[in-house]
Amino acid sequence: MLWDVDYTLLDAGGSGRAVYRSVFRYLFGRDPDGVAPMGGRTERAIIADTLSMAGISDPPRHVDAFIAELTRRAPELRATVAARGHALPGATAALAAVAALGPAVVQSVLTGNVPAMARAKLAAFGLDAHLDLDVGAYGDHHEVRAELVHLARDRACAAYGREFGGQATVLVGDTPLDVEAALATGARAVGVATGGPRQGRAGQGRAGTCRWPASTARSSAASAVTTVCGLVPWRRRTATSRTRSPVTSRQIRKPGKSSCSSASSRWRL
Ligand SMILES: [Mg+2]
Repeated sequence: MLWDVDYTLLDAGGSGRAVYRSVFRYLFGRDPDGVAPMGGRTERAIIADTLSMAGISDPPRHVDAFIAELTRRAPELRATVAARGHALPGATAALAAVAALGPAVVQSVLTGNVPAMARAKLAAFGLDAHLDLDVGAYGDHHEVRAELVHLARDRACAAYGREFGGQATVLVGDTPLDVEAALATGARAVGVATGGPRQGRAGQGRAGTCRWPASTARSSAASAVTTVCGLVPWRRRTATSRTRSPVTSRQIRKPGKSSCSSASSRWRL
């Protein structure tokens, strides 16, 4: 189970945009014209668009430096996130409920944040206790969110010695891009309605998705994931199902069997 971070597990209180502006000033000596839309996108995509908006020439050339500076500042961000933000209702209970299913279910993150930022945000609210963050996928990897699904599968396969192809992978997120990433890679999607107006549309009317109602998230997030979405009976029922890809894109590597042997050295954090 791969959790999105922002507006799925927590609200960082605007810390992300603030640190973007600060890093931009540090690198370019002036304020940015704005910060590109963030919801559901990866840091690589957000940074490239933010630099482009500011008229920086050849934005891709600066993305790695921007990520490095974000990473360097992550430890100090933890206190800021803790002061400005909060864990979303039901998030802690949902993580604990899935952990209670036992070792058959591996929990990690699939997030647009760079690794250090994700760790800082989660640690700010103690949301990392049940997550194996070493097998997660982060926004420094690729501009296309669906590519992160393949990375997470490879890492989990290498670490746990079993495949997580097709609907054995479950993505939980709050934006249409979270759902799109799941559908594009044959994974199962759980749409969380805890985001704001721009974030809270995950899974609307999309086949193969399971929406996590806001009212349920507030009252019983744990049962939302395991019962409303039918995760446990579904997981048993489809244990031997074949990988399917309901959405195709030339940008996105098609889903297929993970290769544990090829993953272990390539993707180690
Ligand atoms: Mg999100």
